[in-house]
Parts: sequence; structure tokens; C-alpha cells
Amino acid sequence: MGLANIFSSTVWTFLLVRDTRLIISILYKYILATIIVSTIIYFVLVYVYITNELYLKLKHESTIDFLTGLYNVREFDKLLNKFCVAAADKNEDLSLLMIDIDFFKKVNDTFGHHSGDMVLKQLGDILKKACRSFDIISRNGGEEFTVILLDCGHIQALEIAEDIRKRVEDYQFVIGKNQKISITVSIGISSYPCGTNDPNDLLHEADNALYYAKRNGRNKVSCRMSEQIL
Ligand code: GH3
Ligand code: MG
Ligand code: MG
Repeated sequence: MGLANIFSSTVWTFLLVRDTRLIISILYKYILATIIVSTIIYFVLVYVYITNELYLKLKHESTIDFLTGLYNVREFDKLLNKFCVAAADKNEDLSLLMIDIDFFKKVNDTFGHHSGDMVLKQLGDILKKACRSFDIISRNGGEEFTVILLDCGHIQALEIAEDIRKRVEDYQFVIGKNQKISITVSIGISSYPCGTNDPNDLLHEADNALYYAKRNGRNKVSCRMSEQIL
């Protein structure tokens, strides 16, 4: 494109101006200006590209929990709101699991904070394996995790929660060379529409159910709906 421009400009200049030295001088300035402008445009484009990449990276990182790679609490809030509205509009099933490690403080106190972090990471991996690819798994802070189960009714949510509880109970968490420990989790479940008739109550209901599981011995799955421990 640039070469074609220079070529056509040269032909026109040659036809209009018969002075060879003048033509060479104009051409020289023209080529120089073209090179300078092209270089500036190139660097501006590179800068825009790098800035855009950086923006996308930061945007992605602002939604992710750095330790586990799961969603963070801010993204969880956003997505829960979005899916609650969608579930109410379309009258679709939606369930929420609230998962909390039992006596996690003891893990930190006994083996150190770094070992605690290793346990959190591995629990994140267990949740990824146990849940469906489209479920929304988050670490909501500390040793508390949530799973938004999309298009998932109460019975299926119970099955997934019990599967998670069992996987965690059976798993040997690696916290160092030849050092493994076992932990358990308590899980509260809430479901819409079977359980609560307002999706906006899901968080509160799951929290209540988790509290109920904790009070009733831990390493339990609970749904307040039936006031029973499973
Ligand atoms: P409960 O069974 O009642 O849930 O008891 P708990 O000990 O798990 O709960 P508690 O709230 O008493 O303690 C939570 C602990 O989680 C305390 C804190 O040191 C630890 N914790 C919070 N965030 C992190 C983290 O990012 N990494 C590590 N290693 N520990 C964390
Ligand atoms: Mg805990
Ligand atoms: Mg907790």
C-alpha cells in the first residue's frame, strides 16, 4: 500500500514537475515522512495491543481467587445474582452448596499456614472433579467454598453434596514430603424452587443449613428444608 502510494506520487510528481533535483528532494522528504508516520503508527498499535492484553488479564484476575484458581467472592456475588434472576424468570431449578472445612484452625495451628494453604488448593481440585463443568465453584474467603449448581434440583444437589463430602473424607491431603492428613467438610444446601420459593433467599438458606450441619456434629450434609441431617 505504502509502496503503491510512493510509486503513484512519483509518477504524478514527475509528470507535473520537470526539475529532477526538486523531484528527488520532494521524494526524499515524502519517503522520510512516510517512514516516520508508519513507525509512529506501528508503536501506537503495539501499545494499544499490550494495554488491551493487560486489561483483559487484570479483568480475569479480578474474578479469580489466587490460591485455588476458583472464582472469588466478588464474582460469586455477581454470578449468583445473575442466575437467581434467570431462574426466577424461567422458573428453572437452581441450588447452592455452602462448604466449610471442619476445624480448619486446628490444621493451621498444628501444621502451619502453608500446609493450610495446600489443603485449600487440594480441596479446590476435589470440588472441580466432583462438580459438573458448568457449575460455579468459588472460594468465598478463608476455608469457605460455594458451588452454584445450575439447572439442578434438590435431589441432585443432595447427591452432589454427599459425593463431595465423601470424596473429602476419603482423600489424603498432601502437606509435605511423606506427610498427609485427613479433613472433613460440612455442607449446607438450599434449592429453588423446591426448598425456597425466592431464589434471593438461597444464600441465607444455605448458610442456615451449614450452621445446622456444624451444630449437629460436622462432616455432614444438611438442608434446612427438611430440618434433617443426611
Ligand atoms: P469450624 O469447624 O467451626 O468451621 O471451625 P474452623 O476452625 O474451621 O473455623 P474458624 O472460623 O474457627 O477458623 C477458620 C480458620 O481458617 C482460621 C484462619 O486461620 C484460617 N484461614 C482463613 N483463611 C485462610 C487462608 O487463606 N489460608 C490458611 N492457611 N488459613 C486460613
Ligand atoms: Mg471451618
Ligand atoms: Mg468458616
